[in-house]
Amino acid sequence: MIRDLVRANIRGLTPYSSARNEFTGEAEVYLDANENWQGFVSFQEANRYPDPQARALRARIEAVLGLPYENTVIGSGSDELIDNLIRIFCEPRQDSILVMNPTYGAYRVFADINDVKVLSFDLTETFQIDLAALQAVLQQERAGRSGNGQLKMLFICSPNNPTGNAFDLATIETICTLFDGIVVVDEAYQDFSAKASAATLVAKYENVVVLRTLSKCWGLASARVGIALAAQAVVSLIAQVKYPYNLGGPSQALALEVLSKADEVKATLELIIEERERMGTALSALGCVEHVYPSDANFLLVRFDDARAVYRFLAERLIIVRDRSSQRHCQGCLRLTVGSIVENERLLAALKEYENG
Ligand code: PMP
Repeated sequence: MIRDLVRANIRGLTPYSSARNEFTGEAEVYLDANENWQGFVSFQEANRYPDPQARALRARIEAVLGLPYENTVIGSGSDELIDNLIRIFCEPRQDSILVMNPTYGAYRVFADINDVKVLSFDLTETFQIDLAALQAVLQQERAGRSGNGQLKMLFICSPNNPTGNAFDLATIETICTLFDGIVVVDEAYQDFSAKASAATLVAKYENVVVLRTLSKCWGLASARVGIALAAQAVVSLIAQVKYPYNLGGPSQALALEVLSKADEVKATLELIIEERERMGTALSALGCVEHVYPSDANFLLVRFDDARAVYRFLAERLIIVRDRSSQRHCQGCLRLTVGSIVENERLLAALKEYENG
């Protein structure tokens, strides 16, 4: 039961009820929320509080992305949803989460901020999940032998940041059956992947939460729109814990707009995937590159002969990439976002200059 996993104070929470939550119809005069009757900027509804439940947006998400309305809640980026999930389920100084290294660093940071312990489970050198090893860790935790308190949640990032690979749905599903805590599948980069999404698992497993974002493929990083897809019990917990007006009206409007441009977005998505493959080949041909990892995302993890030197050389030419060399199994690796053709060409030209220098 999900309820048994929830922190005691959250289980007993009386959530904040905003004016706009209590009245759902279309009124003619709104004197309920102490807003200014007058707005001063170009966004028309700027003087009014936004819909706390982002209903129009969730309806469009259902229509365009196929994620059922009743099973979604919108965060201010998926980052907010990660933080909310940890706050809902993990008792500070008592419970723990498990992350699979190397992975997105925010899981650990949000756990640290919430004073929740983090268990590190290493992916294999080819960035796969060793299911037998994971099962052993989960068994040990269930038996309470490690002294880490209760393991409440594990994070699977698929496609994984910074490695780029997506995991097989069968692997993710097996984990859902092995673990009776919350399985968070972070699909921030799913749009770029040909592998099946874990969204289908939500109807089958109450303990699965799938995270999506409009920050990557949908080109809306600035608006901060993240989506959690989960069983209604989990969705309603997040809706209670999030800030009531966590997603501003302009962001909701921008999200609605971009979801009506799916064809345009898809065309750019295809270009990014083409460029990812082209860049993979071009980078592999460079002498300073030791390995380009296969990617299901919009970035490439690349092992260089001297990552620090390459990083500095690029930065001097005002090209910023992400140094991931301190991460598990990522020695010598930089993470390169697939940009526009012009940006990618500039990166390749700079790397050739580095080699010839
Ligand atoms: N998950 C992963 C794996 C990410 O790489 C990122 C952003 N870098 C996020 C979540 C957060 O995305 P946002 O908050 O913009 O939705």
